[in-house]
Amino acid sequence: RPSRLSAQDRPELQISFEFFPPKTDAMEEKFWDSINKLAPLKPRFVSVTYGAGGSTRERTLRMVSRITSDTGVEAAAHLTCVGATQAEVDDVVRGYQSAGVNRIVALRGDPPEGVGQPFVAHPDGYANAAELVTGIRKLGDFDISVAAYVERHPQSPNWDVEIDNLKRKFDAGANRAITQMFFDNEDYFRFMDRVRGAGITAEIVPGIQPIHSFKQIANFASRCGTSMPAWIAERFVGLEDDPETQVLVAAAVASEQVFELVDAGVTRFHFYTLNRSNLVLALARLLGRRPE
Ligand code: FAD
Repeated sequence: RPSRLSAQDRPELQISFEFFPPKTDAMEEKFWDSINKLAPLKPRFVSVTYGAGGSTRERTLRMVSRITSDTGVEAAAHLTCVGATQAEVDDVVRGYQSAGVNRIVALRGDPPEGVGQPFVAHPDGYANAAELVTGIRKLGDFDISVAAYVERHPQSPNWDVEIDNLKRKFDAGANRAITQMFFDNEDYFRFMDRVRGAGITAEIVPGIQPIHSFKQIANFASRCGTSMPAWIAERFVGLEDDPETQVLVAAAVASEQVFELVDAGVTRFHFYTLNRSNLVLALARLLGRRPE
């Protein structure tokens, strides 16, 4: 079985990590502690999100610049175009460029009222992520990741629109897509059939969210249109006040998910860390990654 191969037998396995920009000094300390523990695993890149509507613009830039200078790991800065003019977004891209950040995760973003609300583009802004990718490509030679949704985006009317939208992002020049979190691999496999069926050959990296706290992750999942299978929820029943056991169960659940994907031939993983290192360190280790 591929999942039983040693790390040396599968150098093609690659991992990346996602962080969010810390708000307070205490959170920042935890952020760097996690970065310093995960960086020696030589991830392909570490990405830092962009707060709703650009609220973390400066912090995102500060974090990505420092990740590379402090650890030597490549950093990717997320960028959204919601609520901003094209000129404002282009300025952020130039800021990334002059800080030496050449990886961007390009997103549309959500209206300030939340994911469920209809998106209205800024009159002078980029209308969607595909347009944003086109804009970024005009400004420089960036490595661009975009978002994909294995259970469809909550606002997507049907699969044809969903896959067409993804295809437009690749046609505009995206290098890869990273998926929204999902917990049932069957959703990923079905999605990949649709993607490949539409002639998209680019890599679609599964986004893996370890469930360190069932309550928090189930809440995130429902807000972004990800379903939580009953058989996973059941594994956490009664553990509300037992964080230690929750984490052990979370490690087992995530490793089951990851190794099923490895056995199906998946070689790239993007881990949502929520700025924590323990579960992701364990998963990376199971995938054969050792600190270098
Ligand atoms: P787009 O690709 O532009 O489109 C979103 C959806 O709109 C499509 O999937 C499609 O279903 C629908 N759509 C497109 N065209 C049409 C049409 N003509 N008619 C009807 N429907 C249509 N948000 C942040 O604020 N900051 C971040 O840092 C951030 N990072 C993320 C990282 C990843 C890996 C993922 C998966 C999401 C991230 N998000 C982030 C959330 C993202 O901004 C939201 O999911 C947003 O609602 C959609 O962004 P998008 O780039 O997928 O948009």
